[in-house]
Amino acid sequence: MHASPKPDLQPAEPIRHLYVHVPFCSHKCEYCAFYSAPAKGDQIQRYVEALVREIGLVAPRCRPETVFFGGGTPSLLGIQHWETILATLRQHALLGAAEFTVECNPATVSSDKARLLRSAGVNRVSMGVQSLDEGLLERLGRVHSRSQVFKSIDILRDAGFDNLSIDLMFAIPGQTMALWEATLDEALALGTEHLSCYEVIYEEDTPLYEQLKAGRFDVDEELACAQYDRLVERADAAGLHQYEVANFGRAARAGLTPPASPPDVPAFACRHNVAYWRGHDFFGLGPSASEYVDGVRSRNRASTVLYVESALRGHRAKEFAEALPPLARAGELAAFGLRMNAGWPFDAFARRTGYDLREEWADDIAFLVGRGWGECLPDRFRLTPRGLRFADTAAERMLRT
Ligand code: SF4
Repeated sequence: MHASPKPDLQPAEPIRHLYVHVPFCSHKCEYCAFYSAPAKGDQIQRYVEALVREIGLVAPRCRPETVFFGGGTPSLLGIQHWETILATLRQHALLGAAEFTVECNPATVSSDKARLLRSAGVNRVSMGVQSLDEGLLERLGRVHSRSQVFKSIDILRDAGFDNLSIDLMFAIPGQTMALWEATLDEALALGTEHLSCYEVIYEEDTPLYEQLKAGRFDVDEELACAQYDRLVERADAAGLHQYEVANFGRAARAGLTPPASPPDVPAFACRHNVAYWRGHDFFGLGPSASEYVDGVRSRNRASTVLYVESALRGHRAKEFAEALPPLARAGELAAFGLRMNAGWPFDAFARRTGYDLREEWADDIAFLVGRGWGECLPDRFRLTPRGLRFADTAAERMLRT
């Protein structure tokens, strides 16, 4: 006689956050170390077929409150590809997330695509602008022009998008303070609901890194600091409030009901990223995508060819998976959370990790407070505005092995 299987007394919690990596770009930017490349032959079609399979594999456990299509350049996918992907999400009841973001490049936004995405429930677009100076756009190897940025914003607004974000970069080689201010002012005048601003980083194996190594330009740390300070000042004056080192969101917008946001962040904060920083589980689909589910961090292979082969055979294309010891995971979350202006409320940290931030990290907190980089409030620990400028260094102290 066969024993009947034991009923699963504790059904697995649904995963509320879904990331999809689209690994194609029409041209590789000079600074980019993300996994992306120009598509060859029928690669996009094969990728979409594979993604449809992979969506089916995670769908039973996925009830997304946030969906984020990043890359790469998701807006490079054609209308038919998007129709297939959206139909698959609909078939698995994965549409209707409170926040559904698609990253777009200004060179690949069309009215038809924008309307299709909006009508299917995509309600947020994040656009990689980087600069509004033609010379710097060329320096970075971007494929779009400044006029395409303005045109794309109009197209997206006309299609009904009322939650737009743009990405900018500062400390670009050759970017004087005057050039940065000009881009910043013009970008803020676009009136988007969200802004992300990153300092150029020099990743190995990128042309920009090679140029730096070859001495073709110098890094001016002082200028980078001054540009960051100007950013925080001007964004705030324009109603975009900093809630993370590189991210700014509007609290409200006239005539618009703001989306329900998590505590401690402006209404138009990116909920998907806040979920990462607060340590929520998420699925990651597509080549090179990472995910964190049930205490296990894993990553798909950074190869579109291997990803497609695997997914079409009905398997996820995992390259590695590791279960982090609880203290290591707590250290990672302590570090992520410090990047947010709100820092870590002690009770929220204890609920998420099981550790008391004030005990395990007492020495680190004392060190950061002593340097003027951190402040301990009755309910939380957070970085000061000066500390946020050095958030990476501060965050490193919080890591545990
Ligand atoms: S568009 Fe984005 S993902 Fe593509 S190469 Fe440029 S920086 Fe990298």
